[in-house]
Amino acid sequence: MNFARQIEQYLPRQLLELVKDISGQAAEQGQRVYLVGGVVRDLLLGYPNFDLDLVVEGDAVKLAQQVAETSQAKLLAHHRFGTAKLRHENFTLDLATARKETYARPGALPAVTPGTLKDDLIRRDFSINAMAISLASNDYGELIDPHQGKNDLEHRLIRILHSGSFSDDATRILRGVCYEQRLGFEFEAQTARLLKRDIPMLDTISGDRIRHELEHIFEEGRPELAIRRFDELGALHRINSSLKGDGWIAERFDRARRLKKPAQLPSLYFCLLIYSFSEKEGEQFLARLSMPAKLSRAMRDTLRLRTSLSLLDKPSLKPSEVYYLLREYEPLAIQANAIASEFSTAHRHLQLFLTKLRHVRTSLDGEELKRLGIPAGPGMGKVLQVLHKAKLDGEVCTRADEKRLALSLSPKL
Ligand code: ATP
Ligand code: MG
Repeated sequence: MNFARQIEQYLPRQLLELVKDISGQAAEQGQRVYLVGGVVRDLLLGYPNFDLDLVVEGDAVKLAQQVAETSQAKLLAHHRFGTAKLRHENFTLDLATARKETYARPGALPAVTPGTLKDDLIRRDFSINAMAISLASNDYGELIDPHQGKNDLEHRLIRILHSGSFSDDATRILRGVCYEQRLGFEFEAQTARLLKRDIPMLDTISGDRIRHELEHIFEEGRPELAIRRFDELGALHRINSSLKGDGWIAERFDRARRLKKPAQLPSLYFCLLIYSFSEKEGEQFLARLSMPAKLSRAMRDTLRLRTSLSLLDKPSLKPSEVYYLLREYEPLAIQANAIASEFSTAHRHLQLFLTKLRHVRTSLDGEELKRLGIPAGPGMGKVLQVLHKAKLDGEVCTRADEKRLALSLSPKL
């Protein structure tokens, strides 16, 4: 079946030109190039996806280097894995040398050797991700579908390629659920059976890889759907026995989406996911996922702040008191608590800190205080602190107010 016409309609013009440039240069070098994976799946479904993955039968790095020399695309990286990235103004393309993989033991990273397109497709997770479209001039647009992915797409099924797939790489359990929920597909019967059987194989997956898959899921429009499904399947429990994918999580994720800038959203989901944890459970989760230092800090702060929320639940608190109670916490932890907290006054104070108090600065700085005759040193630090507190509490508003207050303080110093 040929998809040449669909490719022309589907890809933005610039990207299409780059793809044609790549395939032309590949032909000159006697190499063959294919579109593979997610883009082929989504093209057949008619969903937009411009994260292009190309497989090269030959040498992807050499090809990418040559394309970078003769086009406006920049070569971003090439690794010992035989992969390269080309970045064009608005797009990034991934090129990989076709590869063959073998697993020494479950959960291990596979041993990789150069291979054919067929080898490259059989190592993939699901039939719907194991299709390719040729970009070579003699059969441009031809679908290569050795695992009947198109048929599974039509029947809305997620199917693994062999019975050892989940035990070779149990991240596929997480990936499968992600597609099931995103596309509204079902697991094919045998795949569903093996998935349930192989849930314990999640233990063989490193923290980095589990975290990476959760991050991938946290890019979804409604990741709570996949989280709920992991819970149903026992996968959440296998990763950490305190994790839950219930209605509470769904509701908080939804609130987070309505509040937050998208860049921070995955981190916020992580904080919410462990919101009900004890400190000890939190530490177990951070260790299991090899969580990076910065996010670990925000997640620990989330739990620490949750246990101190009652301090913030007093209507009589002055803004400066709210500020001093919260300034040591990571903003992400404050945001997570604002979303999750049940106390309405505490909630209001958390919001006040995030939207206003943390941005409050005095109008006067050290230099200006010096010009007013206040010498540098601890005394000046004290004046700045008093100014800041007065500004937080709305006792000074203008520069003139601050000057007056500073001068009234200086004789006392
Ligand atoms: P998405 O739209 O979620 O990005 P994708 O299909 O592009 O979907 P990626 O995670 O970007 O998914 O991976 C690209 C391709 O690499 C997949 O289509 C799949 O064929 C293959 N792949 C990724 N992870 C695995 C895995 N753990 N095992 C086998 N194949 C995988
Ligand atoms: Mg992708």
